[in-house]
Amino acid sequence: MSENKDPHVAGSGDSGAGEVKFVYDFTEGNKDLKDLLGGKGANLAEMTNLGLPVPPGFTITTEACKTYLDSGEEPAALRDEVGAHLQALEAGMGKTLGQADDPLLVSVRSGAKFSMPGMMDTVLNIGLSDKSVQGLARQSGDDRFAWDSYRRLIQMFGKTVLGVDGELFEDALEAAKVAKKVSVDTELEAADLKKLVTKFKRIVKTEAGRDFPQDPREQMDLAIHAVFDSWNTDRAKLYRRQERIPHDLGTAVNVCSMVFGNLGPDSGTGVAFTRDPASGHQGVYGDYLQNAQGEDVVAGIRNTVALAELESIDKKSYDQLMRIMETLENHYKDLCDIEFTIERGQLWMLQTRVGKRTAGAAFRIATQLVDQGLIDEAEALQRVTGAQLAQLMFPRFDDQAKVEQIGRGIAASPGAAVGKAVFDSYTAIKWSRSGEKVILIRRETNPDDLDGMIAAEGILTSRGGKTSHAAVVARGMGKTCVCGAEELEVDTKRRRMTAPGGVVIEEGDVVSIDGSTGKVYLGEVPVVPSPVVEYFEGRMHAGADDADELVAAVHRIMAYADRVRRLRVRANADNAEDALRARRFGAQGIGLCRTEHMFLGDRRELVERLILADTDAEREESLKELLPLQKRDFIELFEAMDGLPVTIRLLDPPLHEFLPDVTELSVRVALAESRGDANENDLRLLQAVHRLHEQNPMLGLRGVRLGLVIPGLFTMQVRAIAEAAAERRNAKGDPRAEVMIPLVGTVQELEIVRDEADRVIAEVQETTGVELKLAIGTMIELPRAALTAGQIAEAAEFFSFGTNDLTQTVWGFSRDDVEASFFTAYLEKGIFGVSPFETIDRDGVGSLVRSAVKAGRATRPDLKLGVCGEHGGDPESVHFFHEVGLDYVSCSPFRIPVARLEAGRAASTSKGSDHR
Ligand code: PEP
Ligand code: MG
Repeated sequence: MSENKDPHVAGSGDSGAGEVKFVYDFTEGNKDLKDLLGGKGANLAEMTNLGLPVPPGFTITTEACKTYLDSGEEPAALRDEVGAHLQALEAGMGKTLGQADDPLLVSVRSGAKFSMPGMMDTVLNIGLSDKSVQGLARQSGDDRFAWDSYRRLIQMFGKTVLGVDGELFEDALEAAKVAKKVSVDTELEAADLKKLVTKFKRIVKTEAGRDFPQDPREQMDLAIHAVFDSWNTDRAKLYRRQERIPHDLGTAVNVCSMVFGNLGPDSGTGVAFTRDPASGHQGVYGDYLQNAQGEDVVAGIRNTVALAELESIDKKSYDQLMRIMETLENHYKDLCDIEFTIERGQLWMLQTRVGKRTAGAAFRIATQLVDQGLIDEAEALQRVTGAQLAQLMFPRFDDQAKVEQIGRGIAASPGAAVGKAVFDSYTAIKWSRSGEKVILIRRETNPDDLDGMIAAEGILTSRGGKTSHAAVVARGMGKTCVCGAEELEVDTKRRRMTAPGGVVIEEGDVVSIDGSTGKVYLGEVPVVPSPVVEYFEGRMHAGADDADELVAAVHRIMAYADRVRRLRVRANADNAEDALRARRFGAQGIGLCRTEHMFLGDRRELVERLILADTDAEREESLKELLPLQKRDFIELFEAMDGLPVTIRLLDPPLHEFLPDVTELSVRVALAESRGDANENDLRLLQAVHRLHEQNPMLGLRGVRLGLVIPGLFTMQVRAIAEAAAERRNAKGDPRAEVMIPLVGTVQELEIVRDEADRVIAEVQETTGVELKLAIGTMIELPRAALTAGQIAEAAEFFSFGTNDLTQTVWGFSRDDVEASFFTAYLEKGIFGVSPFETIDRDGVGSLVRSAVKAGRATRPDLKLGVCGEHGGDPESVHFFHEVGLDYVSCSPFRIPVARLEAGRAASTSKGSDHR
């Protein structure tokens, strides 16, 4: 760390005390200065300070980039500051940049705080010119190496700094190989490369309209500016919008003295992980390529060897690398990935960062590091995510199965799906109705495919990325999806798909798609249940001798999370089966029982009669039939959740769901009329359906409005709840019912319903002789409810935020319409980073939640607060609900473990919520 308190301010030895410092030597930075030095620069500095062999260099700060981007010019002091650091570098290396007889060469690399696509690639070998290439040849004693380095510089510089089409260089290189009748670049000799240099320079001149610069400092400055400019490429800007990375961070630039992996067989370059990123196990993982430079290892131009083979190639470097890897792991206390180069037997570290890993490895590594004493339990919680846990909970294809992979696309929505290939929605629906499992295969999907997507087990497209229509809609439905599998040629007209190698998949052939890896297989691949789900279900025990290592790790991390979390986690469940599963998964109650689900199927007709009843007698008749059915539902729920709170929401149906389809009914009546045998009942029904038809059912007669206009409906439900609770009490049970009123917009609605509910509950107490303590509360799911939460809290003992409806009404979106129609465009344009139906919109919907929490608690300090919209199971949103001080989140049973984990993570990072 620099001695200055403020790292932005130069010390007296630099450009003058008090002035902003724009350039940091690698010895001056550290890993915590990522904002200023970018990820790469901060880690290079950290390794330098650890005494690891990092080629000397310096980093130009993001502040310099910001000034350049704001004003169009680099900061006035930058040129001199870079000059001073370059001089120091030259003094240390004993040679100057581009020196004719023995040139110092440098690389220029971009390095923002977050790595992002679209930023400038590295330019290596800066400092080479027509003159210094001769010096390099003499110094290295290797003509071929010198000319190869020079042609690489012109190629990389031409492409990335001067904007010349890279293919032109590739084509010329290919032509040189063909002319020489060789297949790999290493077989080109010095003379060939020299000719190639001439050709490359010609390409630059023609395409960029200028000569390739021969002045080394000019090369370096142009490359630095190109890095700055690359911050604003379209790709980088779009990525930042989508990932919500601020546009004003800027990028740092790293200037590093070159070391060479292409100096012959005793040189090379490689990548390595300090442990296996797939399993977390310690060992030797990585790839090495002899006599190669830069991106050659990952570019796949020649076959690499496993890192373990380096031991026999260069034992000394190998041993040193192993020691360095251990140092890095112990220092970063995590899996690191690294890039290194060996120059004539001397090992150099070019990069390190905390490495990416699979979901399973994340859990294993976190617990391994706890066991090694490197991190504590709180830190282990931060090393895993709910998204990773969710991934581990999907069923997956059996690894042992023999498979025939025919392609690979983007893993757009996780899961493993098997079914018969169909190429249009109509067939998907028709076949699935006859009991077939189908995979809907399209080039891309559009809103017309919606029903087919619902009918299919999974969706496969050959075009589009993670934000394509198929991907967005499938994720919303929780349906497996692989998209953008471009190598698969989909011909919807001929109902077939052709895979590379000519494999043809006709309609009806079975395919299997893996939405977690993007892989597509021919035939049926057996699916195995997730061991993590088996564990949550109680069918696998973490402590058993043969327990899966992964399950044991998940078990431990979940225990830490449960210990520290403040948020309780409840389930959205409407029947005993879901309630029991939720309980096994750790639910601490039911936060939302949607009673309308209890009225579908056989009972739909009873509700239809209730809604259409003309007389009190007819209405009472249907209510009388419904009451015992409802009561039985509630008894089962209270039994499953004995001792835990169960929030029952009174009926909130979109009305049309309970009425016959208007078109179908109209056709029936019209046909009957034309035959002259119209049925009186149908005619009456049609009239009523027309009367009740709504243009916008979402904003129509639903929720509390329905309870207020259909006499007796809510009364029947409250009675069923109260009687069920009394019966459970008599059976020595411990029912904890809570009555919830949906879609309230004003306290007056709530008061009317509440008075009636209190009356019914008192009546049931009276007749049964059982004392009942039923809390009565409301959902907050309309902007007006949130805005008048202080008043509403007068009549509510609890609030449960219905963030599904709140999102719809705050944005003015009808979810069913907008997700399928224009969300793709919004996501692609970066208007959303993620759908507001997936992750809470903190600034809009979230701000209403925040203020309603405050106002509600101001009125009633012991007001219980929860959320039961789908956001209750979304990792990012759980953190928000923790922050605003809710008491619980409620989500679908399957997401309960994710919510528990994220609630734990939120509690262990936050310094306390802002309301408690
Ligand atoms: C909500 O609106 O968030 C909610 C839970 O209710 P529903 O999704 O049933 O409308
Ligand atoms: Mg709702």
